[in-house]
Amino acid sequence: MNSIPLLTPAVLTGSDDNFIDHSSLERPVHRDIVAPWRSLVAEARAAGFDLAIASGYRNYQRQLQIWNAKACGERAVVDLEGIPLDINALDEWQLVQAILRWSALPGASRHHWGTDIDVYDRAAVPADYQLQLSAAEAADTGPFGALHRWLDQRIEAGTAFGFFRPYAHDRGGIAPERWHLSYAPLAVRCQRQLRVDQLWAELNSPSLALGATVAQHWPTIFARYIWVPAQAYPTQFREHLSEIESRI
Ligand SMILES: [Zn+2]
Repeated sequence: MNSIPLLTPAVLTGSDDNFIDHSSLERPVHRDIVAPWRSLVAEARAAGFDLAIASGYRNYQRQLQIWNAKACGERAVVDLEGIPLDINALDEWQLVQAILRWSALPGASRHHWGTDIDVYDRAAVPADYQLQLSAAEAADTGPFGALHRWLDQRIEAGTAFGFFRPYAHDRGGIAPERWHLSYAPLAVRCQRQLRVDQLWAELNSPSLALGATVAQHWPTIFARYIWVPAQAYPTQFREHLSEIESRI
């Protein structure tokens, strides 16, 4: 865990992938999570699951494409039940919030860090299954319910090799994403670097759709959709964030 002298703004905002391992796992991830991930996969296999990564590291440009496509209606913006919204019926702030429920602001995604991954059970679905990463799939009654119950138990017991769920609960910001795991020992170091004013200075760009509205509501967006509360982390990592958090 000591191979990061490099938490630069470019690393934290998805514009520098020098720390990413592109080939060891099925998706690119931070090189320091490969070993703990393999440990978790091995334990999952022993429990009957084929724990796999659907999405790992994502760079700024990719997140910008997703964001801008949603902002202009080329890509559906959906509600909590997955139903597409009529974006013409929303004002810009409502639209920004609707996009943020499911998609991170470009430059502010935890997937930029390589520490966060979206996961599923490859053994629970046919090889040609079209993965949705939806609440229904991850629910107890869905195809990945058994895997997620197993993960809940591991996380609860502190035996998930550092992985936890940053979006386990609906806090009125990002929708609950049971499939999204984060590697706490490294993610906490990344998150500690985030500062509300500095981050907007780095992310403000003429390429960003709805940028004026994001700027207008920036402190709210940072607190509600970007900062993951210390309380969501495993106990031993909380103190690393709580002091910074008290100043937000
Ligand atoms: Zn995710």
